[in-house]
Amino acid sequence: MNPIACTSGVDLLMEFLDGVLPAEVTAALEEHVAGCPRCAAVVASYQATPRILRDATAVPLPADVEATLKSFLRARTTAFRNS
Ligand SMILES: [Zn+2]
Repeated sequence: MNPIACTSGVDLLMEFLDGVLPAEVTAALEEHVAGCPRCAAVVASYQATPRILRDATAVPLPADVEATLKSFLRARTTAFRNS
């Protein structure tokens, strides 16, 4: 397992947060996030918003809402990367 860099990890983070990654990749990402304030911020902001929505609705996010959230977060993570 190669170390995960932020630039390659952002897309992975989205899948990590969706819970669709293999355990070994999830573990590597958790290790990276633990030592990376940028990724920790991305994870925190991603986890906070959908969880509120899930608690409120108790159903999966509509695909269009999820797509909007992800594009929003991708834009934010791009800003992090360029700052
Ligand atoms: Zn990172």
